[in-house]
Amino acid sequence: MEFESVIGLEIHTQLKTQTKMFCSCKIVDSNSPANSSICPVCTAQPGALPKPNEKAVEMAIKIGHALNCSINKFSVFARKNYFYPDLPKGYQISQYELPICENGYIEISNKKIRIKRAHLEEDAGKSLHAIGSEKLEHTLVDFNRCGVPLVEIVSEADMRTPDEAYEYLTELKKLLRWIDVSNCDMEKGELRCDVNVSIREKGTEKFGTKVEIKNLNSFKAVKDALNYEIKRQTEAKLKGENIEHETRLWDASKGITVVMRTKEMANDYRYFPDPDLPPLNIEEEKIENIKKSLGKLPYQIKKEYVLKFGVKEEDIETITSSRYLNSYFEKILSFTSEKETIKNSLNIINTQVLGYINQQKIDEADIETKAPNPKFVFEIAKLLSANEVSSAGAKKLFEEAIKTNESPSILVEKLGLKQTNDLSEIEKFVKEAVELNKKAFEDFKNGNEKATGPIVGYVMKQSKGRANPKIVMDILKKL
Ligand code: ADP
Ligand code: MG
Ligand code: ZN
Repeated sequence: MEFESVIGLEIHTQLKTQTKMFCSCKIVDSNSPANSSICPVCTAQPGALPKPNEKAVEMAIKIGHALNCSINKFSVFARKNYFYPDLPKGYQISQYELPICENGYIEISNKKIRIKRAHLEEDAGKSLHAIGSEKLEHTLVDFNRCGVPLVEIVSEADMRTPDEAYEYLTELKKLLRWIDVSNCDMEKGELRCDVNVSIREKGTEKFGTKVEIKNLNSFKAVKDALNYEIKRQTEAKLKGENIEHETRLWDASKGITVVMRTKEMANDYRYFPDPDLPPLNIEEEKIENIKKSLGKLPYQIKKEYVLKFGVKEEDIETITSSRYLNSYFEKILSFTSEKETIKNSLNIINTQVLGYINQQKIDEADIETKAPNPKFVFEIAKLLSANEVSSAGAKKLFEEAIKTNESPSILVEKLGLKQTNDLSEIEKFVKEAVELNKKAFEDFKNGNEKATGPIVGYVMKQSKGRANPKIVMDILKKL
């Protein structure tokens, strides 16, 4: 029997608003003192009433557009009831039957992964069981996170491998960052991921019993947990055992999933519309305006570049992965429309510019002011396309340009890096070299390409590195 896995993901993303979802408390980071940003609303004092954050609603609409969802003009906040010490109201405000966004999709490697829904909700607080390494005698609660706005994005069970799940997550994170609704830093809990996985016999339609895995704090953990879980379920099936419908936790240190709760312990959240909050009514015009404000999205830009410049998808991966890198590249496009120069620019960005950004630890948002001048990149790319500098020379130019902040088109002369394409000059050196390296030339004639080393070396030395190696080879072959 051959099995196939079926995977669906539930992602929580923390919105980048200044204030909370239903009150005006500032959103503070985890270094802030416990309970320093709380109020009667987010701590559920009697009589306190919630009021939706307009910015959060707008961000949810942005997300819906980016994920090709339909945006519901009418959606309803619902109470999801459960008891936990870090949830002072005894319920979480979420959306249930009528979410703000529905029925979208994103594309990964030419496959569509459908999005079932994306809805607004609030975060819960945090229970503290220890401070540092010291275990506390009592558990403490910090309500700073209570009411922080989240959007939950639920996919259909359209993924079939852990790799597809990984790719889906990567694409989703890229989009959320691009449209500036979340930083998606998993370490800060700004992106949280629960995975649902089942297996079925290959070729069959019906889904198997799913297991949900929680506590995944990196994309790698998602992949590892899925691989483990698929193996576990497959082995169980082969032994004739049933897969239990349960929630499991990923234990990264042991590399296994463990049972957290079974169906018998499953929650019944008793969802119902929140009587404290009127339904959200969003005007068509607002939805349209938000769509316009988004501009082109990375997947659209990618398709355009491939068509326009004939570049490979992998070469434009980085410059379509962040809007900051993209506007850097767009600057270069404002200087040239020459395909060869554009391709060379991409090459320089993907290697040297990114290398510099990483090495200098430049934040994405600072690329515009701190990354190497895009004009320099363009100039070097142009020199390359005109064969006026070798690739080694181009590297040197780049380094010198950032060091001195001088324009590469001036530096190329100053540093004597300008390649000569002057045939007669090169030919003279090649002929001399052949005279001095008769044996090497014989070997070359007998088909040994590597034998040209000393000949090319001589030409380079005589021309002070300015001879275009391609022309040197052409002349040699002619001879
Ligand atoms: P629940 O009510 O248990 O939360 P949902 O229907 O809301 O289940 O689905 C939650 C997530 O689980 C979705 O991403 C969905 O695609 C996925 N899912 C549902 N059924 C399966 C299954 N049999 N195998 C894998 N994933 C599944
Ligand atoms: Mg669910
Ligand atoms: Zn508050």
